[in-house]
Amino acid sequence: MLKLIIKLFVKDSENVTDQKVRERYGVVLSGYGIFLNILLFAIKYVAGILSASIAMTADAFNNLSDAGSSLISVIGFKFAGKKPDPDHPYGHGRIEYIAGLIVSLAIILMGYEIVRDSFKKIIHPEDINFSYVSVAILLAGVLVKLYMSFYLRHYGKLIDSAVLTATATDALSDTISTATVILATVLYAVFGWRLDGYSGLLVGALIIFAGLKSAKETVSPLLGEPPTAEFIDKVEAIVTSYDEIQGMHDLMVHNYGPGRLIISLHAEVPDSGNINELHDVIDNAEARLSRELNCSAVIHMDPVRVGDPFTDSLKEMVKGIAASIDEKMTIHDFRIVTGPTHTNLIFDVLVPYHVKMSDDEVIENIKKEVYKNDKKFNCVVTIDRDYVNR
Ligand SMILES: [Zn+2]
Ligand SMILES: [Zn+2]
Repeated sequence: MLKLIIKLFVKDSENVTDQKVRERYGVVLSGYGIFLNILLFAIKYVAGILSASIAMTADAFNNLSDAGSSLISVIGFKFAGKKPDPDHPYGHGRIEYIAGLIVSLAIILMGYEIVRDSFKKIIHPEDINFSYVSVAILLAGVLVKLYMSFYLRHYGKLIDSAVLTATATDALSDTISTATVILATVLYAVFGWRLDGYSGLLVGALIIFAGLKSAKETVSPLLGEPPTAEFIDKVEAIVTSYDEIQGMHDLMVHNYGPGRLIISLHAEVPDSGNINELHDVIDNAEARLSRELNCSAVIHMDPVRVGDPFTDSLKEMVKGIAASIDEKMTIHDFRIVTGPTHTNLIFDVLVPYHVKMSDDEVIENIKKEVYKNDKKFNCVVTIDRDYVNR
Protein backbone atom coordinates (compact mmCIF):
# COMPACT_ATOMS: atom_id res chain seq x y z
CA MET A 1 0.00 0.00 0.00
CA LEU A 2 2.82 2.41 0.88
CA LYS A 3 4.57 1.55 -2.40
CA LEU A 4 1.40 2.62 -4.22
CA ILE A 5 1.18 5.89 -2.25
CA ILE A 6 4.81 6.67 -3.07
CA LYS A 7 4.25 5.85 -6.74
CA LEU A 8 1.29 8.24 -6.77
CA PHE A 9 2.69 11.15 -4.75
CA VAL A 10 6.49 11.02 -5.07
CA LYS A 11 7.27 12.16 -8.59
CA ASP A 12 10.66 11.02 -9.94
CA SER A 13 11.04 8.69 -6.91
CA GLU A 14 14.27 6.98 -8.09
CA ASN A 15 16.22 10.24 -7.93
CA VAL A 16 16.80 10.01 -4.15
CA THR A 17 19.64 12.57 -3.86
CA ASP A 18 17.58 15.32 -5.47
CA GLN A 19 16.34 17.89 -2.91
CA LYS A 20 12.82 18.10 -4.37
CA VAL A 21 12.43 14.31 -4.39
CA ARG A 22 13.70 14.03 -0.79
CA GLU A 23 11.18 16.68 0.25
CA ARG A 24 8.33 14.75 -1.41
CA TYR A 25 9.42 11.50 0.26
CA GLY A 26 9.66 13.21 3.64
CA VAL A 27 6.27 14.88 3.42
CA VAL A 28 4.46 11.76 2.13
CA LEU A 29 6.06 9.40 4.69
CA SER A 30 5.50 11.79 7.59
CA GLY A 31 1.90 12.40 6.50
CA TYR A 32 1.30 8.65 6.40
CA GLY A 33 2.86 8.39 9.88
CA ILE A 34 0.58 11.13 11.25
CA PHE A 35 -2.46 9.26 9.90
CA LEU A 36 -1.42 5.90 11.44
CA ASN A 37 -0.47 7.44 14.81
CA ILE A 38 -3.74 9.37 15.19
CA LEU A 39 -5.62 6.17 14.34
CA LEU A 40 -3.66 4.24 17.00
CA PHE A 41 -4.15 7.02 19.55
CA ALA A 42 -7.93 7.16 19.09
CA ILE A 43 -8.44 3.39 19.42
CA LYS A 44 -6.01 2.93 22.34
CA TYR A 45 -7.34 5.96 24.18
CA VAL A 46 -10.89 4.55 24.17
CA ALA A 47 -9.51 1.15 25.26
CA GLY A 48 -7.48 2.80 28.04
CA ILE A 49 -10.48 4.71 29.39
CA LEU A 50 -12.72 1.61 29.30
CA SER A 51 -10.03 -0.50 31.01
CA ALA A 52 -9.14 2.22 33.56
CA SER A 53 -5.48 1.42 32.80
CA ILE A 54 -2.97 4.26 33.07
CA ALA A 55 -0.33 2.27 31.16
CA MET A 56 -2.73 1.82 28.23
CA THR A 57 -3.69 5.50 28.23
CA ALA A 58 0.00 6.49 28.40
CA ASP A 59 0.66 4.19 25.45
CA ALA A 60 -2.09 6.01 23.55
CA PHE A 61 -0.59 9.43 24.28
CA ASN A 62 2.77 8.06 23.20
CA ASN A 63 1.23 7.60 19.72
CA LEU A 64 -0.37 11.06 19.76
CA SER A 65 2.97 12.70 20.49
CA ASP A 66 4.45 10.66 17.64
CA ALA A 67 1.88 12.28 15.37
CA GLY A 68 3.05 15.67 16.66
CA SER A 69 6.66 14.72 16.01
CA SER A 70 5.81 13.71 12.45
CA LEU A 71 4.17 17.10 11.95
CA ILE A 72 7.49 18.71 12.95
CA SER A 73 9.21 16.39 10.45
CA VAL A 74 6.95 17.69 7.67
CA ILE A 75 7.93 21.26 8.58
CA GLY A 76 11.59 20.19 8.61
CA PHE A 77 11.38 18.60 5.16
CA LYS A 78 9.51 21.61 3.77
CA PHE A 79 12.26 23.96 4.97
CA ALA A 80 15.11 21.65 3.98
CA GLY A 81 13.76 21.60 0.41
CA LYS A 82 13.65 25.42 0.33
CA LYS A 83 16.06 27.01 -2.13
CA PRO A 84 19.10 28.95 -0.87
CA ASP A 85 18.38 32.67 -0.43
CA PRO A 86 20.66 35.72 0.02
CA ASP A 87 20.61 35.31 3.83
CA HIS A 88 21.27 31.54 3.71
CA PRO A 89 23.38 30.83 0.64
CA TYR A 90 24.19 27.30 1.89
CA GLY A 91 20.52 26.33 1.78
CA HIS A 92 18.26 25.27 4.64
CA GLY A 93 19.31 21.61 4.89
CA ARG A 94 20.35 21.80 8.55
CA ILE A 95 16.79 22.69 9.59
CA GLU A 96 16.12 18.97 9.18
CA TYR A 97 18.63 18.27 11.98
CA ILE A 98 17.00 20.92 14.18
CA ALA A 99 13.58 19.35 13.50
CA GLY A 100 15.11 16.00 14.46
CA LEU A 101 16.35 17.54 17.71
CA ILE A 102 12.87 18.87 18.53
CA VAL A 103 11.44 15.38 17.85
CA SER A 104 14.00 13.94 20.27
CA LEU A 105 13.16 16.49 22.98
CA ALA A 106 9.43 15.73 22.57
CA ILE A 107 10.21 12.03 23.08
CA ILE A 108 12.26 12.75 26.24
CA LEU A 109 9.51 14.97 27.68
CA MET A 110 6.88 12.31 27.06
CA GLY A 111 9.08 9.67 28.70
CA TYR A 112 9.42 11.90 31.74
CA GLU A 113 5.64 12.27 32.06
CA ILE A 114 5.10 8.53 31.79
CA VAL A 115 7.72 7.88 34.49
CA ARG A 116 6.06 10.44 36.77
CA ASP A 117 2.54 9.00 36.29
CA SER A 118 3.85 5.47 36.77
CA PHE A 119 5.41 6.34 40.15
CA LYS A 120 1.99 7.57 41.27
CA LYS A 121 0.50 4.22 40.17
CA ILE A 122 3.17 2.25 42.01
CA ILE A 123 2.46 4.14 45.23
CA HIS A 124 -1.35 3.86 44.81
CA PRO A 125 -2.08 0.68 42.77
CA GLU A 126 -5.59 0.36 41.35
CA ASP A 127 -7.63 -2.40 39.70
CA ILE A 128 -8.08 -2.35 35.92
CA ASN A 129 -10.98 -3.69 33.84
CA PHE A 130 -9.56 -6.54 31.84
CA SER A 131 -10.99 -7.22 28.37
CA TYR A 132 -9.79 -9.35 25.45
CA VAL A 133 -10.75 -6.58 23.04
CA SER A 134 -8.25 -4.13 24.55
CA VAL A 135 -5.49 -6.78 24.47
CA ALA A 136 -6.31 -7.42 20.80
CA ILE A 137 -6.15 -3.66 20.11
CA LEU A 138 -2.72 -3.44 21.76
CA LEU A 139 -1.47 -6.45 19.78
CA ALA A 140 -2.63 -4.82 16.54
CA GLY A 141 -0.85 -1.65 17.69
CA VAL A 142 2.43 -3.57 18.06
CA LEU A 143 2.11 -4.91 14.51
CA VAL A 144 1.38 -1.45 13.08
CA LYS A 145 4.44 0.01 14.87
CA LEU A 146 6.69 -2.82 13.69
CA TYR A 147 5.52 -2.14 10.14
CA MET A 148 6.18 1.59 10.60
CA SER A 149 9.68 1.14 12.00
CA PHE A 150 10.45 -1.20 9.08
CA TYR A 151 9.42 1.19 6.32
CA LEU A 152 10.80 4.29 8.10
CA ARG A 153 14.22 2.65 8.45
CA HIS A 154 14.11 1.57 4.80
CA TYR A 155 13.22 5.01 3.44
CA GLY A 156 15.37 6.85 6.00
CA LYS A 157 18.36 4.97 4.60
CA LEU A 158 17.22 5.44 1.00
CA ILE A 159 17.00 9.24 1.20
CA ASP A 160 19.67 9.55 3.95
CA SER A 161 17.35 11.29 6.43
CA ALA A 162 18.20 11.70 10.13
CA VAL A 163 14.56 12.51 10.95
CA LEU A 164 13.10 9.36 9.40
CA THR A 165 15.76 7.17 11.04
CA ALA A 166 15.09 8.78 14.44
CA THR A 167 11.36 8.18 13.96
CA ALA A 168 12.05 4.53 13.03
CA THR A 169 13.96 4.05 16.29
CA ASP A 170 11.07 5.59 18.19
CA ALA A 171 8.54 3.29 16.48
CA LEU A 172 10.62 0.27 17.50
CA SER A 173 10.81 1.37 21.13
CA ASP A 174 7.03 1.88 20.97
CA THR A 175 6.51 -1.81 20.15
CA ILE A 176 8.53 -2.78 23.24
CA SER A 177 6.55 -0.43 25.46
CA THR A 178 3.20 -1.63 24.12
CA ALA A 179 4.33 -5.26 24.56
CA THR A 180 5.13 -4.49 28.20
CA VAL A 181 1.64 -3.07 28.67
CA ILE A 182 0.13 -6.24 27.16
CA LEU A 183 2.22 -8.44 29.47
CA ALA A 184 1.18 -6.47 32.56
CA THR A 185 -2.49 -6.63 31.51
CA VAL A 186 -2.35 -10.41 30.99
CA LEU A 187 -0.52 -10.98 34.30
CA TYR A 188 -3.22 -8.94 36.03
CA ALA A 189 -5.95 -11.07 34.43
CA VAL A 190 -4.26 -14.39 35.32
CA PHE A 191 -2.68 -13.73 38.74
CA GLY A 192 -4.29 -10.46 39.78
CA TRP A 193 -0.87 -8.75 39.98
CA ARG A 194 -1.18 -4.98 39.84
CA LEU A 195 1.80 -4.19 37.57
CA ASP A 196 0.26 -1.24 35.73
CA GLY A 197 2.65 1.26 37.36
CA TYR A 198 5.77 -0.89 36.94
CA SER A 199 5.12 -1.53 33.26
CA GLY A 200 4.53 2.19 32.80
CA LEU A 201 7.87 2.92 34.50
CA LEU A 202 9.73 0.59 32.13
CA VAL A 203 7.93 2.14 29.14
CA GLY A 204 8.93 5.62 30.27
CA ALA A 205 12.58 4.66 30.79
CA LEU A 206 12.78 3.08 27.32
CA ILE A 207 11.28 6.20 25.76
CA ILE A 208 13.71 8.55 27.54
CA PHE A 209 16.64 6.38 26.45
CA ALA A 210 15.48 6.39 22.80
CA GLY A 211 15.01 10.16 22.95
CA LEU A 212 18.51 10.78 24.32
CA LYS A 213 20.03 8.58 21.65
CA SER A 214 18.33 10.32 18.74
CA ALA A 215 19.10 13.75 20.28
CA LYS A 216 22.78 12.85 20.19
CA GLU A 217 22.49 11.69 16.58
CA THR A 218 20.97 14.98 15.44
CA VAL A 219 23.25 17.28 17.48
CA SER A 220 26.40 15.65 16.11
CA PRO A 221 25.93 16.68 12.44
CA LEU A 222 25.01 20.20 13.61
CA LEU A 223 28.36 20.55 15.38
CA GLY A 224 30.19 19.02 12.40
CA GLU A 225 31.27 15.42 11.95
CA PRO A 226 34.21 13.91 10.08
CA PRO A 227 33.29 12.27 6.76
CA THR A 228 32.96 8.49 6.60
CA ALA A 229 35.99 6.38 5.59
CA GLU A 230 33.96 5.28 2.56
CA PHE A 231 33.55 8.90 1.42
CA ILE A 232 37.27 9.67 1.91
CA ASP A 233 38.18 6.60 -0.17
CA LYS A 234 35.90 7.76 -2.99
CA VAL A 235 37.46 11.25 -2.98
CA GLU A 236 40.97 9.80 -2.96
CA ALA A 237 40.18 7.37 -5.79
CA ILE A 238 38.91 10.18 -8.02
CA VAL A 239 41.69 12.69 -7.24
CA THR A 240 44.61 10.27 -7.56
CA SER A 241 43.23 8.76 -10.79
CA TYR A 242 44.93 11.66 -12.63
CA ASP A 243 48.58 10.91 -13.51
CA GLU A 244 49.66 14.49 -12.78
CA ILE A 245 48.38 14.35 -9.19
CA GLN A 246 50.99 12.65 -6.95
CA GLY A 247 48.91 12.60 -3.79
CA MET A 248 46.47 14.55 -1.65
CA HIS A 249 46.10 15.82 1.92
CA ASP A 250 44.18 18.33 4.08
CA LEU A 251 40.75 17.09 3.00
CA MET A 252 37.97 19.15 4.63
CA VAL A 253 34.28 18.30 4.37
CA HIS A 254 31.49 20.68 5.37
CA ASN A 255 28.00 19.26 5.49
CA TYR A 256 25.10 21.70 5.13
CA GLY A 257 22.54 18.92 5.03
CA PRO A 258 22.23 15.89 2.77
CA GLY A 259 23.04 16.73 -0.84
CA ARG A 260 24.78 19.98 0.16
CA LEU A 261 28.40 19.04 0.73
CA ILE A 262 31.30 21.44 0.38
CA ILE A 263 34.74 19.89 0.24
CA SER A 264 38.28 21.22 -0.16
CA LEU A 265 41.61 19.44 -0.44
CA HIS A 266 45.25 19.90 -1.41
CA ALA A 267 46.56 18.05 -4.46
CA GLU A 268 50.30 17.49 -4.92
CA VAL A 269 51.48 18.29 -8.45
CA PRO A 270 55.02 18.27 -9.95
CA ASP A 271 56.75 21.64 -9.53
CA SER A 272 58.19 21.24 -13.03
CA GLY A 273 54.73 21.22 -14.63
CA ASN A 274 53.05 23.94 -16.64
CA ILE A 275 50.61 25.93 -14.51
CA ASN A 276 47.98 26.15 -17.25
CA GLU A 277 48.06 22.44 -17.98
CA LEU A 278 47.96 21.53 -14.29
CA HIS A 279 45.10 23.94 -13.67
CA ASP A 280 43.19 22.18 -16.43
CA VAL A 281 43.72 18.81 -14.71
CA ILE A 282 42.62 20.27 -11.37
CA ASP A 283 39.47 21.71 -12.97
CA ASN A 284 38.65 18.27 -14.38
CA ALA A 285 39.15 16.64 -10.97
CA GLU A 286 36.89 19.24 -9.34
CA ALA A 287 34.20 18.68 -11.96
CA ARG A 288 34.32 14.90 -11.47
CA LEU A 289 34.11 15.23 -7.67
CA SER A 290 31.07 17.49 -7.89
CA ARG A 291 29.38 15.26 -10.46
CA GLU A 292 30.03 11.88 -8.85
CA LEU A 293 29.82 12.81 -5.16
CA ASN A 294 27.13 15.50 -5.48
CA CYS A 295 29.28 18.15 -3.78
CA SER A 296 30.97 21.47 -4.40
CA ALA A 297 34.75 20.91 -4.52
CA VAL A 298 37.76 23.24 -4.34
CA ILE A 299 41.27 21.88 -4.94
CA HIS A 300 44.41 23.74 -3.90
CA MET A 301 47.62 22.88 -5.77
CA ASP A 302 50.83 22.09 -3.87
CA PRO A 303 54.03 21.86 -5.93
CA VAL A 304 56.26 18.91 -5.03
CA ARG A 305 59.65 18.02 -6.46
CA VAL A 306 59.48 14.72 -8.27
CA GLY A 307 62.48 12.49 -8.93
CA ASP A 308 65.10 14.43 -6.96
CA PRO A 309 67.11 11.97 -4.81
CA PHE A 310 68.37 14.63 -2.36
CA THR A 311 64.85 15.96 -1.62
CA ASP A 312 63.50 12.40 -1.37
CA SER A 313 66.18 11.33 1.11
CA LEU A 314 65.54 14.37 3.34
CA LYS A 315 61.79 13.78 3.14
CA GLU A 316 62.25 10.14 4.19
CA MET A 317 64.41 11.26 7.12
CA VAL A 318 61.79 13.76 8.38
CA LYS A 319 59.02 11.18 7.82
CA GLY A 320 60.91 8.74 10.05
CA ILE A 321 61.40 11.37 12.76
CA ALA A 322 57.68 12.21 12.77
CA ALA A 323 56.76 8.52 12.96
CA SER A 324 59.19 8.03 15.85
CA ILE A 325 57.31 10.66 17.89
CA ASP A 326 53.94 9.02 17.12
CA GLU A 327 53.32 6.27 14.59
CA LYS A 328 50.29 8.11 13.21
CA MET A 329 52.13 11.43 12.79
CA THR A 330 52.71 12.20 9.09
CA ILE A 331 54.22 15.02 7.03
CA HIS A 332 53.23 16.60 3.72
CA ASP A 333 53.98 19.62 1.51
CA PHE A 334 57.68 18.88 1.86
CA ARG A 335 60.10 21.11 -0.06
CA ILE A 336 63.63 22.36 0.40
CA VAL A 337 65.43 25.63 -0.31
CA THR A 338 69.22 25.22 -0.51
CA GLY A 339 71.64 28.03 0.25
CA PRO A 340 75.42 28.39 0.70
CA THR A 341 75.40 28.20 4.53
CA HIS A 342 72.22 26.27 5.33
CA THR A 343 69.32 24.31 3.82
CA ASN A 344 65.71 25.09 4.72
CA LEU A 345 63.40 22.08 5.14
CA ILE A 346 59.83 23.35 4.80
CA PHE A 347 56.93 21.03 5.62
CA ASP A 348 53.59 20.52 7.39
CA VAL A 349 53.20 18.01 10.22
CA LEU A 350 49.85 16.33 10.73
CA VAL A 351 49.48 15.86 14.50
CA PRO A 352 46.88 13.23 15.54
CA TYR A 353 44.34 14.31 18.18
CA HIS A 354 45.61 11.73 20.69
CA VAL A 355 49.11 13.29 20.85
CA LYS A 356 49.26 15.17 24.15
CA MET A 357 52.31 17.33 23.28
CA SER A 358 51.75 21.02 22.54
CA ASP A 359 52.40 22.25 19.00
CA ASP A 360 55.62 23.95 20.15
CA GLU A 361 56.86 20.75 21.78
CA VAL A 362 56.24 18.79 18.56
CA ILE A 363 58.13 21.39 16.52
CA GLU A 364 61.02 21.48 19.03
CA ASN A 365 61.33 17.69 19.02
CA ILE A 366 61.44 17.48 15.24
CA LYS A 367 63.90 20.38 14.91
CA LYS A 368 66.22 18.82 17.49
CA GLU A 369 66.27 15.45 15.69
CA VAL A 370 66.81 17.02 12.25
CA TYR A 371 69.59 19.22 13.64
CA LYS A 372 71.34 16.08 14.96
CA ASN A 373 71.62 14.80 11.36
CA ASP A 374 73.25 17.92 9.97
CA LYS A 375 73.86 21.30 11.62
CA LYS A 376 73.16 23.00 8.27
CA PHE A 377 69.50 21.91 8.27
CA ASN A 378 66.93 24.45 9.36
CA CYS A 379 63.26 23.42 9.73
CA VAL A 380 60.26 25.61 8.89
CA VAL A 381 57.34 23.64 10.34
CA THR A 382 53.59 24.22 10.14
CA ILE A 383 51.34 22.19 12.45
CA ASP A 384 48.23 20.69 10.90
CA ARG A 385 45.19 18.91 12.39
CA ASP A 386 43.14 16.26 10.66
CA TYR A 387 39.58 17.11 9.57
CA VAL A 388 38.89 13.51 8.72
CA ASN A 389 38.99 10.60 11.10
CA ARG A 390 40.40 7.17 10.38
ZN1 LIG B 1 49.11 21.38 1.35
ZN1 LIG C 1 40.42 27.40 -11.44
